[in-house]
Amino acid sequence: MGSLHLQFSASDIFGSKTSMSGYTYDDLICLPGHINFGVHDVALGSRFSKKIALRTPIVSSPMDTVTESNMAIAMALEGGIGVIHTNLPVETQAMEVARVKKFKAGFILEPRCVPPTMTLEELDNLKSSLGFTGFPVTENGQMGAKLLGLVTKRDTDFVQDRKTRLSQIMTPAADLVTKLEGCDLIEANETLQKSKKGKLPIVTKSGLLVALVARTDIKKNVDFPNATKHPVNKACESTDIKKNVDFPNATKHPVNKELLVAAAIGTRPADRDRVKALVAAGVDAVVIDSSQGDSVFQHEMVKWIKSNFPDLQVVAGNVVTKRQAQHLIECGADALRVGMGIGSICTTQEVCACGRAQASAVYNVAKLARHYGVPILADGGISSPGRIVKALSLGAGAAMCGSLLAGTAETPGEYFYSDDGKRLKRYRGMGSIDAMKKGSDDRYFGTAAAIKVAQGVSGTVQDKGSIHKYIPYLTQGIKHGMQDIGAQSVDQLQSMLQEGQLRFELRSAAAQREGGVHGLHSFERKLFDS
Ligand code: GDP
Ligand code: 5GP
Repeated sequence: MGSLHLQFSASDIFGSKTSMSGYTYDDLICLPGHINFGVHDVALGSRFSKKIALRTPIVSSPMDTVTESNMAIAMALEGGIGVIHTNLPVETQAMEVARVKKFKAGFILEPRCVPPTMTLEELDNLKSSLGFTGFPVTENGQMGAKLLGLVTKRDTDFVQDRKTRLSQIMTPAADLVTKLEGCDLIEANETLQKSKKGKLPIVTKSGLLVALVARTDIKKNVDFPNATKHPVNKACESTDIKKNVDFPNATKHPVNKELLVAAAIGTRPADRDRVKALVAAGVDAVVIDSSQGDSVFQHEMVKWIKSNFPDLQVVAGNVVTKRQAQHLIECGADALRVGMGIGSICTTQEVCACGRAQASAVYNVAKLARHYGVPILADGGISSPGRIVKALSLGAGAAMCGSLLAGTAETPGEYFYSDDGKRLKRYRGMGSIDAMKKGSDDRYFGTAAAIKVAQGVSGTVQDKGSIHKYIPYLTQGIKHGMQDIGAQSVDQLQSMLQEGQLRFELRSAAAQREGGVHGLHSFERKLFDS
């Protein structure tokens, strides 16, 4: 190879002995293939790890401004998976995992309850801070206690005396329509529809409250008919999908149908207690969070986990070379996280002079890992659906995203406004000074260091709305890209990669400029029309 005007297979570009450059996503462009199928025929099913399949090849990054339980629930419902960050005390991280595992679409498992002694005045305050108006009344005001009644707008609106206690105006349990625990969402929804009520308490035989179902949520669920389940090929047989009341693409456990969730851990011996707590909370995979994965600490951690919890999926990393990857695979890794120093918030390559251009890293590690059946996650530098297409085209099982998903409603943190009126959220590197002060310095080998050297920055990103609108935009973009390439599935795309049918061209700096918006006085970027 050599001329910029020839088209190449990936192995021509990355495998050439004379190629001394590292290439990244922008250096390459995929050449179009032949289209003989519709965009809706493109399937995005892929692998997160040896035993975890995804319908949507997108993973939310373990960062404290990206993934906690709300994000992990939303990602799993949309067919991807979220990795809960490790910048939390062990018990809190385990609780976040448990919240995902306990999630059942349509069931509010921890509804806010009130005691019968509460006054209407107190309830008014609660309503205005929480934003909903229906509350189960339980003996002690807690979830799990005996259900005494329900207060809704209909009970409270026309009562003049706001000092009245709830026990006097609530609809008592004897007059409520309830269902016994163990009922599924379909039965619950049928009961709500028949009874024309707004809330359905789910109780034990002895009348203890176990969950609440809200009519509003049935409407919401019908709006999300596309969710992914695990294993992927069983998904379409689910009764939930036929009845169109659940997320049929959700990433779920094949037997108990719980959503799947991963959590990050460090590499130190003390993190073994974290692993035990996460396993007890039901975590499906752990992701070892380290910027340079080929260390003795990490080797020991992978071996320890695989010998103590053989069913737990272990994603090891980060790696960028075949040699690093080989070591972690030999220790028993079930997937590898690939990327060093290329994240949007990252300064590793500047500070430490170490890392690798991401397209080269993904292609080379994926090529080796494929021989062992170990999927890889292309981690960092994903700023558009097109880059996800490129990551998959170079052999990744899924793309791990930080900045791309930051700023969505499900990420931790509050929105605020910039001086020019833009709605923003914070997004920061886990190696930024801010995050390291909260404990993430382990990832950058800095816990015991007198001077903490930042390998990341802290910034802001614009509001992107809900994951439930954003992921469908991304997946539609990926499907269009795969259709243009002529691949109807990720498997087919990767067979084309291996057989050399997938053709790329290297782009000059001018070609890269031409490939973006150019030559306009001004423009507005709207990502999708919802
Ligand atoms: P309400 O009639 O004013 O209580 O509100 P809706 O039932 O129309 O909407 C309440 C929304 O808040 C639903 O989507 C619920 O799933 C959600 N929600 C989350 N947590 C709770 C909770 O603890 N109690 C109630 N009532 N709703 C909750
Ligand atoms: P992004 O998607 O924003 O381009 O990159 C996210 C990825 O960057 C994360 O998944 C993680 O691998 C990496 N990362 C997160 N925080 C830092 C940091 O502070 N420094 C470095 N070097 N990498 C980071």
